[in-house]
Amino acid sequence: MALPKRKTSKARKRKRRTHWKLSAPNVIECKQCHQPKLPHRACPNCGYYKGRPVYIPKDYQ
Ligand SMILES: [Zn+2]
Repeated sequence: MALPKRKTSKARKRKRRTHWKLSAPNVIECKQCHQPKLPHRACPNCGYYKGRPVYIPKDYQ
């Protein structure tokens, strides 16, 4: 395994981590029940994805 020749300095480490940020998750509205949901995932509220039911959630009416 490759071994670093020099120890990473505090300044170098801190400069690298200036770009390390937490981003907020992208949330969209469900077309079926108009609840907020994550894109490319079945809705956790109504179980719909792409206009058709994928699964029936436990506590759905
Ligand atoms: Zn929904």
